[in-house]
Amino acid sequence: MRTKLIAGNWKMNGSLADNELLCKAIQAGLAGPAASQVTAIAVCAPSIYLNQLQGLLAGSSITLGSQDISAHDKGAFTGEIAASMLKEFGVRYAIVGHSERRQYHFETDAVVALKAKAALATGITPIVCVGESLAERESGKTEEVVKRQLAAVIHENGHCISEIVVAYEPVWAIGTGKTATPEMAQAVHAVLRAQLHAASPVAAERVQILYGGSMNAANAASLLAQPDIDGGLIGGAALKAADFLSIIAAAR
Ligand code: PEP
Repeated sequence: MRTKLIAGNWKMNGSLADNELLCKAIQAGLAGPAASQVTAIAVCAPSIYLNQLQGLLAGSSITLGSQDISAHDKGAFTGEIAASMLKEFGVRYAIVGHSERRQYHFETDAVVALKAKAALATGITPIVCVGESLAERESGKTEEVVKRQLAAVIHENGHCISEIVVAYEPVWAIGTGKTATPEMAQAVHAVLRAQLHAASPVAAERVQILYGGSMNAANAASLLAQPDIDGGLIGGAALKAADFLSIIAAAR
C-alpha cells in the first residue's frame, strides 16, 4: 500500500511575509485531531526561501522541496544549486523536469535524468515530471511522449528507480484550469506503472505517481480515488492554505 503524497509547487511566488502566513495557516489546519498523518506533505519553494522555510517547518509534518536541482556536484555553474547544498537546508524532495523548465530552460530528457541522478546520490527524492503538450495529445502521442521522458530517467537510474517519485503533468492542464478527467489521468498513470514494472516490479509497487495540472479542492477527491494516482503536485491551489488543506483532506 503506497502512502499518498501531496506536494505544493509554489513556483516563483511568495515573500518572507507571505511564506510565514501560508505555512502557519497550513500548520494550523493540520494540527487538529482529524489530521492523522497517513499522507505525506511537501512544499517546493523558491530556493531563496529554503532557509526561512526550514525554520518555519521545523518540527512539523510538512517536508521541504526544491523546484530544481543541478546535475553537477560543484564548480563553475553560475546560478545553479547543487544537491549537497539543498541537503544542507533540509530539502527532502526536488522537482526535476517540470514542463516550465523543459520549455523555458530547454532541459532535455538526458539533463532531467542527470538531475534525478544527482538528487538520488544525495538522498533527495526527485519528483520526475512527465507530460504531453496539447498538440502531442491531439496527435495521439501522449503515451509515446511520457514513456520517452520516463525511459531516460530509468536508463540513467535503473539501479535505484524505486526511490523516485513520478508526476504526470499534462502540459495543457498546468495553470490553465483544464484538468485531465480522472479516467484520462488514470490511463496514463497505468502506462507509467507498467513501464516501471518492466524496469523493476519492486519499483512499480513502490513508486508514487502523482497527478499535476489544475488539481484543486473540487476535483482532488475523484482524481485521488484512481488506483494509480498516489497524490498530487499542486501549483496554484498550493498558494491558498484552505485549498491546499482541502486537497490534503481529499487524499486521506
Ligand atoms: C504545476 O505547476 O506543477 C501545477 C500542477 O500547476 P497548477 O496546479 O497550477 O496547474
